[in-house]
Parts: sequence; C-alpha cells; structure tokens
Amino acid sequence: MAPPSAAATISLPTVSVPACLHDCTASNRSSISSKRSGIDSSFPITTYEEGSDPIPLNWGASTAQERGPVVCSWQKSGLKTHNAIGAHAGGYSIYHALAVGSNQLNKDHKADYTNSEPQFQIKENPSWFNLKDIVSMDPFGHLSPYLYSGISEEKNVEIRPTIAVTKATLKLIELKEAVAEGRLVVDGKIVTNDQGDVSVSKVAVEPVWYLPGVAEKFGISEDELRKALFEDTNGMYPELITRPDLKTFLPPIGGLTVYIFGNPDYISDPSKKLALRVHDECNGSDVFGSDICTCRPYLMFGIEEAVKQAQTPDGVGMVIYFRKEGRALGEVTKYLVYNARKRGGDTADEYFHRTECIAGVRDMRFQQLMPDVLKWLGVTKINRMLSMSNMKHDAIVDQGIVIENRIPIPEDMIPEDSRVEIDAKVNSGYFTTGSIKQMDELKNVKGRTWD
Ligand SMILES: [Zn+2]
Repeated sequence: MAPPSAAATISLPTVSVPACLHDCTASNRSSISSKRSGIDSSFPITTYEEGSDPIPLNWGASTAQERGPVVCSWQKSGLKTHNAIGAHAGGYSIYHALAVGSNQLNKDHKADYTNSEPQFQIKENPSWFNLKDIVSMDPFGHLSPYLYSGISEEKNVEIRPTIAVTKATLKLIELKEAVAEGRLVVDGKIVTNDQGDVSVSKVAVEPVWYLPGVAEKFGISEDELRKALFEDTNGMYPELITRPDLKTFLPPIGGLTVYIFGNPDYISDPSKKLALRVHDECNGSDVFGSDICTCRPYLMFGIEEAVKQAQTPDGVGMVIYFRKEGRALGEVTKYLVYNARKRGGDTADEYFHRTECIAGVRDMRFQQLMPDVLKWLGVTKINRMLSMSNMKHDAIVDQGIVIENRIPIPEDMIPEDSRVEIDAKVNSGYFTTGSIKQMDELKNVKGRTWD
C-alpha cells in the first residue's frame, strides 16, 4: 500500500506574527516572549544595536591585539558583546545546539585548552595584517584562546579557536603500492617504512568571513552580499540585515584541511620548491572509490608528488582539501546529475549541460576565496601545481602567487568511466599537455550505462 501523503497526515500550526517589531517598546526589543511556540522562557534577541556592546574587532589591524578576537558565542555575556554573526564550527553548530537543547551539554561549558596548542608554528606574515589578503578565515584562529585570554576573562565571553594545528601519519594503499613499485623511497622521516606510512603536519580551518572583503572579492557591494546571504538562507541570520556594525560572519559551511609533507617552514620560503594540490571534496570517489570521476586518483597522485617533492633537499609538498562537495552543489544534486547523465546517454558534450539543467550553473566552488589559506601560510611561489583547473590557477595567480609549472593527472590514472568528465573539462579550459577534443568529438566520448 502506498504511504499516505504528507499533506494528509501533518497539520502545521499557525503562528501569528507581530505587525512590526520596530514599533515595540524598548523593553520589548531586548527580549521576546516565545510562548506562541510553546517554549516557556524569554530570551534576548540581538537584531538591534540598542543594548549591544560588541567587543572591538578591527579586521586587518597591524597587530593581533589591535585586531581583537572574533567573538561568536552566546555563552555568558556573549549575546550582548559578540562581534560576529553566525556560529562556530560551520554546520556542526546545529549539533552543538542539539547537545545543549537536549541537556547533554552545559550551555556554559568552559573549554579547557590545556595541551591543545598548535603542534608546530605557522609563520606570521604581512598577509595577516591587511584587509585584502585574507577575508575568509581568521589569521589568528589557531591562537585566539591564548592570545585573547585576558579579554575572555575581562568581558566574560567565550573565545573559541577556528583553526587547529597538529601532526599525523597517513596509511594509504596507493602509497604502499608506490613504495612496492619503487616510485617512492623510504627515507625514515617522511616515508617512514616499507608499508608506505607517511608523516604529515596538518591544519584544520573553519571559515570566518570578513563580509566587506568577501563582497569585494566577488565584485559586489557589502549590502548586496548581506542581502543575498539573508534571503537565500530564508532569513536564517537576521543580523546580516539589522546589524551592519557586525562585519564578520561564521557561515554554516565546511572548511578546509591543509596537509603538509616535509618541513612546514619551507612553505613560505621562495627559495624552496613547493608542490601543491588544491582538492575539492568528492566523497564518492575520494573515500569510496567511485570511478565516474578522477577525484581520488588525482588526490593520490597529488599526495605522492607532494611527498616526492618533500624528499628533495629544498622541497616541500602540500595538499589542501576543501569541503566543497560536488562542485559545492552538494551530493544530492550531484547524484541527480549522475542519474540525468546516465539516463540521457552519458556523453562528454552534454556533461556540463546536465549539471546546468538541474543546478542552474555548472559550478559553485567560486575559487576567489581559496587562495586565502595560501596567503595565510605565506605562499608566494608554487613550483609544481598539481591541478588542471583553470579556475584554481587563475584565482591563485590573481592573488600575485606565481605558478611555475602545472602538472596534469597522468593518462594511465584516469578511470575509463571518467573520460566524459575529464574530456569535457579540458574542452572547457582545463590545463592539459595532451590534445583538446572539440565538441563534435566529445559526442563520441561515452560513459558507462546502467544496463
Ligand atoms: Zn569526483
């Protein structure tokens, strides 16, 4: 039997909305009764400047102390003194809310950061102290609880880190094979044994947006950016509209992870040689080995080449992994596109069109903000760029970072079913050292069918 329709089984409550909150008395502005929704408490709202006293945050200031901390927590006195819109930990902020809401986490839990300090030092550089170079992460995000502990105590607010710096060992089957086949050598330092175990230094970064700077990178006004963010999230963050004094936003999106092979100090040294792969998440391929795209093979090639570079006397390697699943369209859209492709006859000439039919655009990764992390790390020159993407290349070069060589994925690493993707991308402008197929030739590049 077919399940009943949602409309037949669910009746939504009706909620009356005040005609105009601006007509409320001053005392009503600072708190709103929520009895309408069945919650029996009152809580302050923060959509008015009255009664707010944000802790100063001067993005781009010439010292960390002048810059001030990013405060984006409602803990303790945070509601009145916070200086950033949104919430910490990207989308995981909702799990935090669940933990607090279900009484499994004390809302005033004080984090004990003993021994959590960075495992290695990130060299400070001039990019940390201007308004343009870094607008999508907090350059002091790895140091904030320690740098601003005095303000935290004095103002009675939580100051959370948005960056963490640690070390790890990677065990990857491809690296084990690379050692067995003689492509990688065991040096006892980076490749530590004949199983292909690799030592890595890594950095997790959560997004922190300085809204005027983000707007500038997209060539729009701050007001246009705020309006788009407010409207397109169905009014999720009213402060984007009502609090123009708050310039910083912690968006509910994924961040990035930096993997450094070799000496992290070499990253910012132009006399050293840097191999870099900038990789956007593709869970289906990266983790589960789906063969419809080149993502995992290119990621593994990138790691192997980064390790090899780190094993040269003046070399260092780096892979940066961005959580931008499915060209930042998300995995659901991606799978819908797969269906449309496979049902419609999967040919390379239709590759981008199928995405555009469903998503309206072919790509939402917007690489403009990607180089921020390179700026933060002090990268000025990339000797070997392990990417074919013209968008990544152009974004990096536009920021004044030199790319000396571009390295495509080797032909023998391209899975048969991903020819559709790679040939379409090369036709659209991706870098190649091989031939570029024209549209009439792309018609003959076919993917696997389901039959
Ligand atoms: Zn992929």
